[in-house]
Amino acid sequence: MKTSTAPTPSHRTWAEIDLDALRHNVAAVRAHLGARVQIMAVVKANAYGHGVGPVVAALAGRVEMFGVANLREALEVREQLADAAVFILGPALPEERAAIVARRFIPAVCSLDEARAYAALAGPEPCAVHLKIDTGMGRVGIWEDEASAAAREILTLPGLRVTGLASHLPVADEDDAFTRAQLARFHRLVAALRALGVSQPLVHVENSAGIIGFPAQAEDLVRAGLMLYGSAPRPEFQPRLRAVMTWKTRVTLLRTAPAGHGISYGRTFETTRPTRVATLAVGYADGYQRHLSGRGAEVLIRGVRCPVLGRVTMDQIVADVTALPEVAIGEEVVLLGRQGAEEILAAELATKAGTIAWEIFTGVGPRVERVYLFRK
Ligand SMILES: *Cc1c(COP(=O)(O)O)cnc(C)c1O
Repeated sequence: MKTSTAPTPSHRTWAEIDLDALRHNVAAVRAHLGARVQIMAVVKANAYGHGVGPVVAALAGRVEMFGVANLREALEVREQLADAAVFILGPALPEERAAIVARRFIPAVCSLDEARAYAALAGPEPCAVHLKIDTGMGRVGIWEDEASAAAREILTLPGLRVTGLASHLPVADEDDAFTRAQLARFHRLVAALRALGVSQPLVHVENSAGIIGFPAQAEDLVRAGLMLYGSAPRPEFQPRLRAVMTWKTRVTLLRTAPAGHGISYGRTFETTRPTRVATLAVGYADGYQRHLSGRGAEVLIRGVRCPVLGRVTMDQIVADVTALPEVAIGEEVVLLGRQGAEEILAAELATKAGTIAWEIFTGVGPRVERVYLFRK
């Protein structure tokens, strides 16, 4: 049975987070890769806007590791799950390192200097690190052609234990030829680093798009972010996922605008007929992107797609509900997710806003209350 809080006066715009759907998506990743491949749930940026505490609690015992962007996020995961294995995806700032070592978070070491700094901070127990190799992303990591020389030196550092080797894919959803070649290069490099003495490393390279497109190259561990939240960066996998977030708002006002009346700032939309318009309690300050203005964005009311008219403002938008004469003030509106037979995917909003699904989720702001749904 689903439990939920009924909308209260504070629920002007809220996001319902379906933790059963989250678990379903983990199972879908598992089924796709086979039981041998471990899963790191990427829960950076407040679990892509879904709320890191409840997401981590729901995934306890269902994933092998959690991935975060920084020390503060790592601490948030541990607050929820005291024994969680937590990987920090990018380079730490120098002042973050002591706490990373003390709390046994696993850092991605991106340079020889960083490796030396971690080695110097280690206590009697060596500090476990993963070496991050840049095989094409061009963002962080040790350059691929310097990796062997760096590893040789890193392996001599007392106080450090290289327990993993990682890289990252820049175009796993856009360029299969590049990705296939990159995965092969990384695989060969891993073999060379093993030969140098990196023993039994946990090898990981794939994000969601990599997981979907290249399951046979998943190595030991994958870093799944977007797909766990129900959005597939390669559309062929979308039917196997369930949306975790349903973002809702409510109708605050209903009026009939005469023909020839401007709607919202800039008067970029003008009615061509008497139009039943609903004012909705959401705006760009909540994360409903202003770039959705005039781009054919729709909302769901009574399971029907209703066009958003004119510009998105800070706190309010206006929808055409002429087709729905029964709509009442206070009624629920779905901005993202399913209502009846219709569904608005993050990818749809992203395309219309000229951005990506990741930014749609992480943009849902703090004014949007999160309401958690789960099976008792
Ligand atoms: C964010 C991130 C991921 C997760 O990517 P998704 O596309 O959301 O699955 C994986 N690896 C690294 C290094 C990341 O920064």
